[in-house]
Amino acid sequence: MSHVDSEVRPSNFIRSIVNEDLESGKHTSVHTRFPPEPNGFLHIGHAKSICLNFGIAKDYNGQCNLRFDDTNPEKEDINYVHSIQEDVTWLGFQWDGDIRYSSNYFDKLHQYAIELITKGLAYVCFLNADETREYRGTLTEPGKDSPYRDVSVEENLELFEKMRKGDYKEGECSLRAKIDMASSFMCMRDPIIYRVRFAHHHQTGDKWCIYPMYDFTHCISDAIEHISHSLCSLEFQDNRRLYDWVLDNLHDFQTPDRTRQYEFSRLNLEYTLMSKRKLNDLVVRNLVQGWDDPRMPTIAGLRRRGYTAASIREFCLRIGVTKQENMIEVAMLDACIREELNDKAPRAMAVIHPVKVIIENYPEGQIETLNAPVHPSHDVMGTRELAFGREIYIDADDFREEANKKYKRLVQGKEVRLRNAYVIKAERCDKDADGNITTIYCHYDDETLGKNPSDGRKVKGVIHWVEATTAKPAEFRLYERLFTDPNPAAAETVDEVINPNSLVIAHGLVEANLVNAEAEHAYQFEREGYFCADSKDSTADSLVFNLTVALRDSSQ
Ligand code: ATP
Ligand code: MG
Repeated sequence: MSHVDSEVRPSNFIRSIVNEDLESGKHTSVHTRFPPEPNGFLHIGHAKSICLNFGIAKDYNGQCNLRFDDTNPEKEDINYVHSIQEDVTWLGFQWDGDIRYSSNYFDKLHQYAIELITKGLAYVCFLNADETREYRGTLTEPGKDSPYRDVSVEENLELFEKMRKGDYKEGECSLRAKIDMASSFMCMRDPIIYRVRFAHHHQTGDKWCIYPMYDFTHCISDAIEHISHSLCSLEFQDNRRLYDWVLDNLHDFQTPDRTRQYEFSRLNLEYTLMSKRKLNDLVVRNLVQGWDDPRMPTIAGLRRRGYTAASIREFCLRIGVTKQENMIEVAMLDACIREELNDKAPRAMAVIHPVKVIIENYPEGQIETLNAPVHPSHDVMGTRELAFGREIYIDADDFREEANKKYKRLVQGKEVRLRNAYVIKAERCDKDADGNITTIYCHYDDETLGKNPSDGRKVKGVIHWVEATTAKPAEFRLYERLFTDPNPAAAETVDEVINPNSLVIAHGLVEANLVNAEAEHAYQFEREGYFCADSKDSTADSLVFNLTVALRDSSQ
C-alpha cells in the first residue's frame, strides 16, 4: 500500500478501517486529532491515544491536529494548555499546523445552533436540573417531552438570543436538541447542546456567557478540521449516534468523506488512577507533591522519574489497540523502561545506606585513579575514572559478621571483590551502643586489580563502593507504587488504598562523576537500580536521585 511507510507495526482494527477507507477511495488521506481537555496534566492513558492518533497520521503520511477541547471554562486553565503541548512534544510527536481550540469555533457553533433551531431541531428549555432529570426517564422507561418542546421557531430564536445576551441565570434554561425522548440511547433524549455559564474563558475571555456542550462541539470541530477518523475511547460508543445526528442535520457537512467516530478501549493500568479529576484530588490534597510528582502516572511524572519517551511509546505499542476492556500489569510498563535502560544507561556506583570501611594495609593519604567501563557491553560508551583510597563506603546490607554460603557479599573473616577494584578481606568491625556496625576494618590484596588472586583463591561475591574523600553526598528518593490495591479506582476513598511507603528517602553517597548527572537521564547504579537526577531539586551541591525502576521485577 503506497500510503504506509516502511516501518513495521502491528496492525489493529483501526488500521484495518483506515486501510479499507483508503482502498475504497472514501478518503484519499488520513487526518486524525488528539483532543485533550485542558483540565489537568496528561497521563499514560493519554499516551495511548497520542501514540494511536499521531502514530497513524505518521505511518500513513497523513496529518494529526492537537485540539484543546475547551468547552468547560471553569475547570480549565492555561497552564494545562502549556503542559499538554510540552508533553506531546516530549513524547516525540508534532501536530500539524497551529494548535486548535474548540473555542476557535464558538462563532460557528453558535451559527450551527441557530441552524438547528431554524430547522425545528433545537429548543430553549426552562426545566430546572431536577425536572430535566425526571423528564429524561431511565434505562428501562422512556422519557417525557419537555413542555417547551413545541414552542415556535421564531420564539426559540429570540430566547436563544436572550440566552446569549446574558438575560438568563445559570441553570435557568438551556438549548436542547429535539431528537427522541423515547430513544433507547439516553444521550439521544433531547440532549443539552448549550448552557449558560458566566465564566471567564482562557481563550475567549468574557465574550460568551453560553457554552456549547462536548457532544455538540466535538463532531462539528472534527468536521470543520476535515478529520477522517475520529478516534475516542469506548465510553463514547453511544454518543456516536448524537455525533452523527448533529452532522446529518447541518447543511455544511453533507459530504461522502465526512468524519466518523471509532471507539477503542482505554488503558487501565494496575495500581494506578487514570482520571484527571482523581489525579487532581491527589494534588489538591497534597497526597503527592504536584502533577509531576515522580509517583504520578502523568507524562510529566514519568519523565521526572526517568522514563524515556521511547519506553512509553514502546509500551503503547505492546498494549495494542482493541475494543476489549482490560487491566494492564504495571510489570509491562516497567519492562519497557528496564529493557531500554539496561541497554543504554551509563553505569555508576552509589551507596544508599553507607557504612565506612578502612583498608588498613592501604597507604594513608594515598588516592589512586582506577578506570571502569561506562557500560559493560558497549565499549563505545568509554570509561570513567574512579578514585580509590584507604577509606571507602559500602552498603550496610553488604556486610555481615556471620552468614551462610548463600550470602555472596562481605563477611567477617572472608573476602569479596570491590566492583571495578580490588579484593578485600574483612577483619573486624566497630559497633555503636545500639549494636549498629559503624566501621569495618579490612585488608586488600594489591595483586587483584582486574585479575583473580594468583594462588587460585576463589572470590565469588562482588559489591559496590565509593571512595570516602571524593564521594558526594546524595539524597535517594526510593519510590514504590502509590497504591496498595491493584484497582484503586474501585476503592471508596483513596485514603483506604494509598501506600504510606510510596516514598522513602535515604541519604547516602555517589561516585564523584555524578556531580554532573543530567536531570531525567537515568544511570544504572550498579546492584541498586536505575536512578536519575531530579529535575526540580537536584543541584551540583545537593544531589537528589529518583529511583526510576528496580533492576529486576521483584513480583515474579
Ligand atoms: P480523564 O478522565 O483522565 O480526564 P478524559 O477522556 O476525560 O480522561 P480528555 O482530555 O478528554 O480526557 O482525553 C483526550 C483524549 O485522550 C480522548 O480522546 C480520550 O479518549 C483519550 N484518553 C483519555 N484517557 C485515556 C485512557 N486511559 N486510555 C486511552 N485513551 C484515553
Ligand atoms: Mg474529560
